[in-house]
Amino acid sequence: MIGVTVLGSTGSIGVSTLDVLARHPDRFRAVALTANTDAERMAEQCRAHRPLFAVMVDPTAAARLRVLLADMPGRPEVLEGVEGLEQVAAMPEADSVMAAIVGAAGLRPTLAAARVGKRVLLANKESLVVAGALLMQAVADSGAELLPIDSEHNAIFQCLPANFADGLERVGVERILLTASGGPFREWPLERLADVTPEQACAHPTWEMGRKISVDSATMMNKGLEVIEACWLFGTDTSHIQVVVHPQSMIHSLVQYADGSVLAELGNPDMRTPIAHAMAWPERFASGVEPLDLFAVARLDFQAPDFERFPCLALAFQAAEQGGTAPAVLNAANEVAVAAFLDRRVDFQGIAAVVGGTLEAMPNEAVAGRDVDFLLDVDQRARACAERFVRQRVS
Ligand code: NAD
Ligand code: MG
Repeated sequence: MIGVTVLGSTGSIGVSTLDVLARHPDRFRAVALTANTDAERMAEQCRAHRPLFAVMVDPTAAARLRVLLADMPGRPEVLEGVEGLEQVAAMPEADSVMAAIVGAAGLRPTLAAARVGKRVLLANKESLVVAGALLMQAVADSGAELLPIDSEHNAIFQCLPANFADGLERVGVERILLTASGGPFREWPLERLADVTPEQACAHPTWEMGRKISVDSATMMNKGLEVIEACWLFGTDTSHIQVVVHPQSMIHSLVQYADGSVLAELGNPDMRTPIAHAMAWPERFASGVEPLDLFAVARLDFQAPDFERFPCLALAFQAAEQGGTAPAVLNAANEVAVAAFLDRRVDFQGIAAVVGGTLEAMPNEAVAGRDVDFLLDVDQRARACAERFVRQRVS
């Protein structure tokens, strides 16, 4: 039996992970589930999946969960705080760890799992954006397996040869074609973008996801974060990555080889496919996803990205090229700006303004030899700086 810890089990990826896990009870068992505040949903998940441990980051939510589970025979031990996350990410009972917390909050537990050599199923792209060098080094040092869950990166992983870590050039790869849906505002008149509401931004045309990543998709910051994620996962740089807008989201990304071959992975837009791929790898098994019906899809469209409409994508390319702490600053400023937009404290276009202002205001520092505390300190300073830009934008 393969023991699985699901970090962020109450979120969109967490729920899809538990769905796949429950389809294969002969192979997997839930070791630990974690969430931030949603004790009710966690209690339901504990009754359905019977983990050994349940972590609530928020102590009040942990107390509530203990009450909710008081009558459950064989109930899990309830832990709390960020220490609880690191503990269940690294515990010996867990062979695989699904990293599905949203934002930089996922960094410490993801790193803890990588350091002890787990199979890390990485949905939390922000941890690679904030601390790519550190996380990749931890994986190399411990012999952990890092398998991408982000649908594009999972597709690229499937289209690359097994020895891609020898270097993309050596294995004949010319470039990675990273597909993007373009989000809900791909064709809106530019002047209407000022009035976009959180509800409109969260209504993604092809994927159902958490609120933060839905807004990131609407600004295309998500694709920018994914460019940085791809650079780390596949050992390349932005000059070898092209963003391709593909509104149907049926092709999840492509790899172009020196001989002119272009390999793609296709499927219905349902995260259970990459989750099942990474859980079963190198084998394959059922995910519950409907088979792709090409006659129903009928056509596939492609466009170049519009950097004027999506300034966040341009800012992410800029941060990727600058390196150092710029990606961590980009990510922190974006988390603050998206939260402010969801709280109706800044307008939609204010997101790019806050991120751009923060990137300009913060010094870019080298990251070689620096540890996770340094990066999380940069993250905190960038958040404080971004908050000032939010307040300026409002006043
Ligand atoms: P979500 O908002 O639906 O769920 C987030 C989970 O993280 C919840 O379980 C929540 O309790 C937990 N969480 C939130 N803040 C936390 C904190 N401070 N400390 C600890 N736990 C916290 O998000 P999601 O859509 O499932 O996305 C999760 C991650 O996966 C993100 O990094 C996202 O970019 C990535 N991802 C998601 C999708 C998708 O389809 N949803 C696709 C690709 C990548
Ligand atoms: Mg993606």
